[in-house]
Amino acid sequence: MTFSRFLHLSVLTVAAHATPLNAFEYDYIIVGGGTAGCVLANRLSASPSVSVALIEAGPTVFNDSRVLIPSPAGLAWGTELDWNYTTIPQAYANNSVLTYHAGRDVGGTSTINGMVYLRPTADEIDSWSVLGNTGFSWDSLLPYFKKSEHFQLPTDPRPRAIAEASYESSVHGFIGPVKLGWGNDLAPGVFGQALNTTWQSLGFSWNADPNSGNNTGLGLFPIEKDTVLQIRQDSARSYYLPVIGRPNLHAFTNTTALDINLDSGKSHHGPKSAVVAKGVNVILPSGRKQLLRSKQEVILSAGTYRTPGLLERSGIGNPSILRNLSIAPKVPLPGVGAHLQDQWLVNAVYNANFTPTSFVASYNAKPLSASVTAAELFGSDLDTVAAQLYADIPAYARTLSEASNGAISVQAQEQILLTRASLFFDKKVAIGALTFGIFGGNCWVTLPLSTGNVHSSSDPSDPSKPLINPNFLQLPWDLLVQQRLFSLLRRVLASPLVAATLSPNTIELSPGYSLLPANASLPQTTAVFQAILAPVWHAVGSAGMRKREWGGVVDEEFRVYGTKGLRVVDASVVPVEVNGNPTSLIYALAEKAAEDILRDCK
Ligand SMILES: Cc1cc2nc3c(=O)[nH]c(=O)nc-3n(C[C@H](O)[C@H](O)[C@H](O)COP(=O)(O)OP(=O)(O)OC[C@H]3O[C@@H](n4cnc5c(N)ncnc54)[C@H](O)[C@@H]3O)c2cc1C
Repeated sequence: MTFSRFLHLSVLTVAAHATPLNAFEYDYIIVGGGTAGCVLANRLSASPSVSVALIEAGPTVFNDSRVLIPSPAGLAWGTELDWNYTTIPQAYANNSVLTYHAGRDVGGTSTINGMVYLRPTADEIDSWSVLGNTGFSWDSLLPYFKKSEHFQLPTDPRPRAIAEASYESSVHGFIGPVKLGWGNDLAPGVFGQALNTTWQSLGFSWNADPNSGNNTGLGLFPIEKDTVLQIRQDSARSYYLPVIGRPNLHAFTNTTALDINLDSGKSHHGPKSAVVAKGVNVILPSGRKQLLRSKQEVILSAGTYRTPGLLERSGIGNPSILRNLSIAPKVPLPGVGAHLQDQWLVNAVYNANFTPTSFVASYNAKPLSASVTAAELFGSDLDTVAAQLYADIPAYARTLSEASNGAISVQAQEQILLTRASLFFDKKVAIGALTFGIFGGNCWVTLPLSTGNVHSSSDPSDPSKPLINPNFLQLPWDLLVQQRLFSLLRRVLASPLVAATLSPNTIELSPGYSLLPANASLPQTTAVFQAILAPVWHAVGSAGMRKREWGGVVDEEFRVYGTKGLRVVDASVVPVEVNGNPTSLIYALAEKAAEDILRDCK
C-alpha cells in the first residue's frame, strides 16, 4: 500500500466509526489517551460486553506529518500537540528553567518522542520486589514486553550482517501491536566501524541484544517505527487505530478531565465502606462540564506530570499540600507527586564540517550508543567511590526526606538508596549512557539519585497544571557520574581511529576545553554542567509503585492506596528511574495492568 493511500484509509476509518455520545456511563473510564492509555483502551474494550471511555485532552493525529515522519524527531515540539511545560527554577542548576515536552494528543508522548525502544535491565525490575512489589520480576514482566512488541527485521539482510545486528529471539515478540526494528540504514559507515573497534579496544563490550535484560556495552537499539511504511509507530497507531470502530469504546478527544468523582459510601466492589471512584468530571469540547460515571473503575493514565495533579485535585495526596491548594483531603497519601526522577544529559558539540557525500556515509554510522557500569566508569577508583557512596547514604536520605517535606521518611529513603547502590556495585547494572556522533555526543546519567517532585499548581486557568521539579544535581553522586561519563566520551571521540573519521581540524565547540579543561576541578565541572545540563524527558515515579510507608501511591496491581475502583497506569508508577527509554516498559506495564483490571471485573 502506498503511503498516501494508507493515510487516506486512516481518515475514512476514523470518520466511519465515530461513536455518538451516550448516557455518559461506562464500565471503565481511562483518563489520558497517551502511551499507556491507548493500550488500556484496546485491551479493556476487547470484550464487547465491557464499555470503555477514553478521555484525551488533545486530538487524534493519525495523518499529521509532524508525528508520522520518523526523522527528525521534534517536529511537533512547541506546537499545540505539546503541553510544552517548563520546570520550576532548578535550585541546584543556576535556577535555570528547563523545557519539558509532553504529547497532548491521542498517543500522548509516544507521538512526539525519539522512538527508541530500549528496555530496562533485568536486575532493575527484579529490585522492585524490595520496594514492595513482590510479584514483579524480569521473568514475570517479560511476557508483557513480548506481548506488546512486533519486532521487524530489515528486509535486506546485508546491512544487518555488516552492522552485526543480532538479537535474542527468545526475548522478543513478533506479533504484538508495536512495530519496531531496524531499517535498511544499518550499514555502520566509517564512523560506526571506528567507534566499535575503539570501544572494544578500550576494554568495553559489544552487546548483541541490549533489550535482553542486560544493556551494558555498545549496541544497536531498535526504533518504534513501521519499517515498511517508514512511519512512526506510536501508541495510537499501534493500539487505538486498529480498534477505533468498536462500538463499546468511546474516545472523548479534546476533552479535559478535571478531577475524579469520589464517593465515601458503599461500592460495587463490596460491602466495605471506602473512598470509591465513581466517575470523572470533564470539560467537553463545547466547554460544558460533564460527569462521566464509571461502573467498574477509573484509571488515570495522564502521565508523570498530570496524574499527581489529578489525584490532588480530587483530594488524594499530601494533606499539607492539599490544604495549601484549598482542597479538602479525602485520602491522605503523602507520596503523591513526591518522587519524580528524570535522567539528564550534557552535550559535547563539535564543529563538524562535512561535504554532503561524506556526511551521508558517516551518518549511517550505527551503532551510536553505549551503556556503561560503575565499574567501567570508575575503574581502579571503584572501591573508594563505592565506600564513599555507602558512607553518604544516611546524609543523602536525610536530604531527600527533607526535600519531600517528610512525605518519604529518612528510613524509607535510606532503604531505597541502598537498593540503588546494590544495583550499581553488586549487580553491576549500567548507570550511564553515551551517544556518539560526527557532531559530538552526549552523556546521560541514567540512574540518578537526585529526586524531585511534581505537584498541582494553583493556576485558575489550568488547575492541574504541574509544577515540575526534577531537582537535577541535588546529590553530588550524579555529578560524579556525569564527570566520568564526559571524560569517557571525550576519550573515545579523540581516539585516533574515531578522530580520523571526523572532519579535519575538528574541535569541541561546547563546552570546549578552555571552559572545561581535561583536568578541571570539581567546582569548575559543577559550574559547567549546571549551565549546560538538559533533561532527557524520561521522568517517572510521581505516583510510584512502592510500599505505602515508603511513599508509595499504588500497589503492585496499580490500585491507588486507600481507594476502591481507582488505578494509575502510566510512567508515574515506575517506582524509581530505570535504564533505557520508558515506552518499552510502559507498554509492558499497561499490558499487565489490563489483565489485572479485567481479572477484578465484577
Ligand atoms: C522529547 C521526548 C523524547 C523522548 N524519547 C523517547 C524515546 O526515544 N523512547 C522512549 O521510550 N521514550 C521516550 N520519551 C519518553 C516517553 O515518550 C514517555 O515517558 C512516555 O510516552 C509517557 O507515557 P505515559 O503514558 O506515561 O504518558 P503520555 O504518553 O504523555 O500520556 C498522557 C496523556 O494524558 C493526556 N492528559 C493529561 N492530562 C489530561 C487531562 N486532564 N485530561 C485528559 N487528558 C489528559 C495527555 O494529553 C497525554 O495524551 C521521550 C519523551 C520526550 C518528551
